[in-house]
Amino acid sequence: MLIKQNLQNIKKTLPKEVTLVAVSKTKPISDIEEAYNAGQRIFGENKIQEMSQKWNSLPKDIEWHMIGHVQRNKVKYMAEFVSLIHGVDSLKLLTEINKQAVKHDRIISCLLQIHIAKEETKFGLNEEELKELLNSEDFKKLKNIQIKGLMGMATFTKNENQIKKEFKYLKSIYNTINKSLPTASILSMGMSGDYQIAIQEGSTMVRIGSSIFGARNYN
Ligand SMILES: *Cc1c(COP(=O)(O)O)cnc(C)c1O
Repeated sequence: MLIKQNLQNIKKTLPKEVTLVAVSKTKPISDIEEAYNAGQRIFGENKIQEMSQKWNSLPKDIEWHMIGHVQRNKVKYMAEFVSLIHGVDSLKLLTEINKQAVKHDRIISCLLQIHIAKEETKFGLNEEELKELLNSEDFKKLKNIQIKGLMGMATFTKNENQIKKEFKYLKSIYNTINKSLPTASILSMGMSGDYQIAIQEGSTMVRIGSSIFGARNYN
């Protein structure tokens, strides 16, 4: 019941054009079923094997988003079903996704992850690397992937001005690549703690976990 209520409360605050990804990582099937029964169809996971097990045992009209860092040797386990891969940050990874997509006769949608936070540990491309990737001949040869937009994570901080500045920066990069990438329509930014700021700054997709399912227990 709590999950349903949390979902409804969050949805009420989201503008219509903002898509909600319910981040169900570490959470049991029963929690996802509860959200599903409340109408939610898009779920985000950060471990490929966990996502694949959940895909196997849940209704097939769920859209599965891979939001975590992707290891190249595991792309094959999700190529058949994944709807959107948020954390793509290298041409090598894109090339592998393309290769696995060909095997399944699919075109896999991807977001390029941009490093906007101060923390060193957050993955992603910088602006220069992004331009290099998009302009490379090898990238243009990949026919079974489609770049749908950008994703970023702000610094984990209480300083709202810092968060705002980082989302603004991501939005400005998004605006520039948008001109050369007509398939890009998604700007994935915002989590439980900062999604309201993200929406103010132009997010079109928020990834919310703990505010829906409660705090995660990693033990
Ligand atoms: C876990 C995670 C989220 C959701 O985080 P919450 O703070 O629980 O909303 C969003 N994005 C990514 C990339 C994550 O790994």
